[in-house]
Amino acid sequence: MSATLGVMLQEVDPSLTVALLEAEGAAGLESSDPWNNAGTGHAALCELNYAPLNADGTVSAQKALTINEQFHVSRQFWAHLVETGRLKDPNTFINSLPHMSFVWGDAHADYLRARYESFSRENLFHEMEHTEDPEVIREWAPLLMEGRTGGQRLAASRFKHGTDVDFGALTRKLVESLEEKGARVEFNTRVKNLTKNADGTWSVAVKDRNTGVERVERARFVFVGAGGGALHLLQKSGVPEGKGFAGFPISGQFLRCTNPEVIEKHHAKVYGQAQVGAPPMSVPHLDTRFVNGKRALMFGPYAGFSTKFLKRGTYFDLPLSLRTSNIVPMLAVAKDNMDLTKYLVTEVLKSRESKDGSLRDFAPAAEGKDWELITAGQRVQVIKKDKLKHGILQFGTELITTQDGSLGALLGASPGASTAAPIMVELIRRAFGDKFSEYEPKFREMIPSFGQKLNDNPELLAEVEEHTSQVLNLA
Ligand SMILES: Cc1cc2nc3c(=O)[nH]c(=O)nc-3n(C[C@H](O)[C@H](O)[C@H](O)COP(=O)(O)OP(=O)(O)OC[C@H]3O[C@@H](n4cnc5c(N)ncnc54)[C@H](O)[C@@H]3O)c2cc1C
Repeated sequence: MSATLGVMLQEVDPSLTVALLEAEGAAGLESSDPWNNAGTGHAALCELNYAPLNADGTVSAQKALTINEQFHVSRQFWAHLVETGRLKDPNTFINSLPHMSFVWGDAHADYLRARYESFSRENLFHEMEHTEDPEVIREWAPLLMEGRTGGQRLAASRFKHGTDVDFGALTRKLVESLEEKGARVEFNTRVKNLTKNADGTWSVAVKDRNTGVERVERARFVFVGAGGGALHLLQKSGVPEGKGFAGFPISGQFLRCTNPEVIEKHHAKVYGQAQVGAPPMSVPHLDTRFVNGKRALMFGPYAGFSTKFLKRGTYFDLPLSLRTSNIVPMLAVAKDNMDLTKYLVTEVLKSRESKDGSLRDFAPAAEGKDWELITAGQRVQVIKKDKLKHGILQFGTELITTQDGSLGALLGASPGASTAAPIMVELIRRAFGDKFSEYEPKFREMIPSFGQKLNDNPELLAEVEEHTSQVLNLA
């Protein structure tokens, strides 16, 4: 997020002085690392949690359309950076990969058909395909069918021209480019506190993690893009806009395939249906990945519970985030989300054998010996005040900006990585006030669909798809 914002600001206003302060020794090691998130090219093409079933049996495409529009903004921004030489070798961070949804049983198959009927009417999803023919599913993703018995009704939808994005690689490339264009980038530098000065600027207290030396930086604008670390810093800033927010950490694990022959057999991102109570981003999926340019395969996530807000955080993260202003929302969420609690307890208690069993629901011939268990990143779901319910758990990202536009922060998890570019455009719109209209021509140049809905404009959509595919070297 911070790397995206920094590069975007340099593009729209080269007169700005930009500094990026990172606690770790390199960029993109937390949520944006490819083994820590599930956001690989996440464009709502296959994730069923973005397509709720209506009471009349139809499926709503609205949320998925919004996310897909956002992903197209990110894609255009990356293409602009490739065209202008700021990002090189696009296939080191983005690759073509079909996106599929796969379900079994009558109820789920009926739902998937209704989703297909609703989605295929939309321009953004016009190329979606659907089948209930096991042989076609076998052709699309052989691992789903190998060893499958039982004669259950199966259904799958596919979007052939999806993508896989290695957000860790992308983050590191963006940070390199940021530095090349004159930004100051400091690693091993932890931000410890934020204090508003009388003149409206911010004092940012930082500590060099190698030497232990502490110092204070001054800035006219601060973006708290610290992932799971953002809530603490927002609270420390004392801004009223940050009051009432809390975080609920959910940890996760993936199974990573170690057998090259199995990896080779699968070439898709396949999402299934979530269990009752499962948070939306815990929907099981069997994904091909391109990590550091190498093809890989993973299955998961299996949710867990940890009180850490960052993978490299401490167990005190959750207790230290408690405030008088966020206790009520937290208790309200605990009371209203018993299904989630039950789901998490079940997941935490799952044995390795039972994890392999969930994998075999997807890939029946999978053998446990070919898969290793790895720890995914920490997601800190946003809990916020709500007039009616006192507190709600939000499964998205929450952008917070102060009234004077001097501070912005991003809380939450998913979708985040895939939608970073439009989120940062919105941040600049909110925080940079009058300047935003000056920046608009540059935004239009970088993002040809800026201010328009591609779904309502099939000609522009075709142009944008063709242009970005060509620049990013996608099939
Ligand atoms: C399991 C999982 C699944 C996900 N699935 C999806 C998905 O399907 N689609 C999607 O779009 N998104 C998904 N996400 C969310 C996505 O990964 C995040 O939205 C995105 O990576 C957040 O980027 P960020 O820059 O805000 O945070 P991060 O990548 O976590 O970066 C924050 C950085 O701030 C640094 N930092 C923290 N505290 C401090 C401090 N005090 N001082 C200095 N530096 C600090 C950290 O070291 C880190 O480098 C998922 C996340 C997880 C964990």
